[in-house]
Amino acid sequence: MDENGMTGTQGSLFGDASATPAFPGKAAEAASPRARAAELNRLLNTYAYSYYALDKPQVTDAEFDRLLQELQAIEAAHPELVGPESYTQRVGGYVSEQFEPVRHAQRMYSIDDAMNLAELDEWLARTDEALGSTPEHPVAYTCELKIDGLGVALTYKDAQFVRAATRGDGTTGENVTANVLTIRDIPHALAEAGLAKVADGGLGQSVEVRGEVYMPKHSFVRLNEDADAAGREPFANPRNAAAGSLRQKDPKVTAHRDLETFIYAVADEAPLDVHSQWQFLEWLRSCGFSVNPNARRCTSAAEVHDFCAEALAHREDLDYDIDGVVVKVDSFAGQAALGFTARAPRWAIAFKFPPEEKRTVLREIRVQVGRTGVLTPVAEFDPVLVAGSTIARATLHNIDEVRRKNVRVGDTIVVHKAGDVIPEVVGPVLDLRPEGAVEFRMPSTCPSCGSPVIREEGEVAYRCVSIDCPAQATERLIHWGSRNAMDIDGLGDEIVSRMVEQGLLSDVADYYDQLTEGALADVSTGRQSVDGDDIVVGKVIAKKVMAQVEESKSRGLSRVLFGLGIRHVGANVASALAKHFGSMQALVTATDEEIAAVDGIGPKIAASVREFFQVQKNVAVVERLREAGVVLEEEARGPEAPQTLAGLTFVLTGTLEKYNRTDAGNRLKVLGAKVSGSVSKKTSFVVAGAAAGSKLTKAEQLGVPVLDEDALDRILTTGEAPQA
Ligand code: NAD
Repeated sequence: MDENGMTGTQGSLFGDASATPAFPGKAAEAASPRARAAELNRLLNTYAYSYYALDKPQVTDAEFDRLLQELQAIEAAHPELVGPESYTQRVGGYVSEQFEPVRHAQRMYSIDDAMNLAELDEWLARTDEALGSTPEHPVAYTCELKIDGLGVALTYKDAQFVRAATRGDGTTGENVTANVLTIRDIPHALAEAGLAKVADGGLGQSVEVRGEVYMPKHSFVRLNEDADAAGREPFANPRNAAAGSLRQKDPKVTAHRDLETFIYAVADEAPLDVHSQWQFLEWLRSCGFSVNPNARRCTSAAEVHDFCAEALAHREDLDYDIDGVVVKVDSFAGQAALGFTARAPRWAIAFKFPPEEKRTVLREIRVQVGRTGVLTPVAEFDPVLVAGSTIARATLHNIDEVRRKNVRVGDTIVVHKAGDVIPEVVGPVLDLRPEGAVEFRMPSTCPSCGSPVIREEGEVAYRCVSIDCPAQATERLIHWGSRNAMDIDGLGDEIVSRMVEQGLLSDVADYYDQLTEGALADVSTGRQSVDGDDIVVGKVIAKKVMAQVEESKSRGLSRVLFGLGIRHVGANVASALAKHFGSMQALVTATDEEIAAVDGIGPKIAASVREFFQVQKNVAVVERLREAGVVLEEEARGPEAPQTLAGLTFVLTGTLEKYNRTDAGNRLKVLGAKVSGSVSKKTSFVVAGAAAGSKLTKAEQLGVPVLDEDALDRILTTGEAPQA
């Protein structure tokens, strides 16, 4: 790592020159410190409300952090301006009335930031000194990735999960227990290996662990694709998507959002026989929690730097968003000695990664017609390298977003990648706006077929409703071959457009009963040879593509439903419908009420599915798909497996060979069983693996039937309850 930066593309860690605010011209040189501090507090509160309460940030995190730092600098120079209402004294957050408030027994704090290596080193030196670090006995630090999600507190009583709360304002959070229960990687009971380190074996103890709920990047991309398909507002980044998904009134919505967790903290370590953060992470693992594997115990600033450098270099390889590294004093005694400020622990620092933002010039706002007829404005700009790849376009989603971002053709714009993956226009550099740049307007007619464009009440999207719009047909055909749909490699957008132009394809069934290898081989790729001749697809590629078309027939109902491009039916909805109905036939003959009763599906989607199958042309396409041999059934068992174990309570103990106990417990629950952490007279069965201890003894004392792993295996494979 060189002194000025860790990687070639990420910018300097020592005060980032590229972090120029996207909206200069708002500087406050003229204002008095008091007036500027008041203005900054007002701005920070407004932005924090949009961010925490609405999950819809108005400015980038970098811009927000810059304003906060400006306020901190003013307050450092003018301590008389620090009041209890100042944003610097608060833990940012919000408690919605939609949820029952939960008063945290121990406060949940924020973490102070180090914006560059110099600030990190200052903190390390200060902490080393405060804790009396010497070369023989250096202070140890645990370095962890800073997961960009939503902080939650999970309470376990008597080893059973009982409550989950958001951080809220640090003192009071929101009760999100029902929603958190839908997150698959959260253990419902602490595993026995972990209980050994809790006073009284966990019985009667209340343990509150804390961590981050996040949305994996691939799920975020999928969720936003679905939002675009349905004409809904997309989320700005995976963090907001996670927060928006967790803070839902209806837990069923959360259940369909693919959230995961990393747990890393405890509210009060007193009941635990664990004395450092490093040991604590190990304890969390032994309890069955999901703990981030990328952590390191370091005993020098150089080691901490190395960890930060590696984290930054691997940031894009991770399937979750991180915005820095959290460095914590490892020993709990050291942490206790340092304590807390009003908003953050003194024993931890968040080393923030510099934002990867680049400037470029907006050349065009092109209006694209999607497969459902939605008109989407897309920013086309001069290519720039951002976070490891060159980008030249980014969706602007809809007209409201274009207005909110206030971008005009000719503007110098700031771009980045949301969640490190999706190219996004952050905003214009207003000072560089060329004279005469005009505001963008949506066209009143479809740019593809010229039909009038409509905007339905309550929708942000403009739409072309012509059934014969060629752009929609092309997009539908491209969508059919896309990865999450039928996954047909080699069908580039250009080739599909050409086939539509030449009349080789007009609907998705044509792939199977019209298109031939010979015809495909002659299609132009849109590229030209050095001699100026059209390059065609050719026999070799055509053969490969047709083999893929053949293979795609067996992808199953969920992919077919998504591939058909039914309005409001994104990948998640398609999968829920396929799992529930099992066959196209069952779905087509289902009533609106039956469709709307499926978990995660409401009347709007049901109506849209119904409308789709009322169009004779669509039914004919589906019929032709069936005749061509496309599988219109879903093999997987529905989400509602038969509840054959309802009313039975299982306790799992000891080491199982074939199963991880948490997984086995979850599978029993899917079949309707309850899984408990302690044996009582009400326990129906105890499953005992190797080295089972006190629970086995208690089961024997109480006369509770004990099963071995083979018996468990039989239950899980047959789904049948054992004979007591
Ligand atoms: P923070 O998110 O920067 O840091 C503290 C939080 O980090 C903790 O509460 C915890 O939830 C989380 N965390 C993740 N991994 C962790 C780990 N391994 N160990 C410990 N904690 C871990 O602080 P904050 O006060 O929650 O929020 C400030 C952040 O929110 C800033 O990044 C700021 O830019 C952003 N924000 C943005 C806007 C906006 O409008 N864009 C508004 C408000 C806040």
